[in-house]
Amino acid sequence: MSLVDPELLKILACPACKKPLEEREARKQLACRACAKAYPVDDGIPILLVDRAVAI
Ligand SMILES: [Zn+2]
Repeated sequence: MSLVDPELLKILACPACKKPLEEREARKQLACRACAKAYPVDDGIPILLVDRAVAI
């Protein structure tokens, strides 16, 4: 079971650098390795806002 729809994940990008995101299921986050940041996923809805990102 994924955090977000796999088809949705394919089209999502980091709001800061536009690179693809990867799921961190245990933490309910989508992570950007390039930025070393993770974005929260709230009830299946990714919150892709730079000011909501946390460092990873
Ligand atoms: Zn990024």
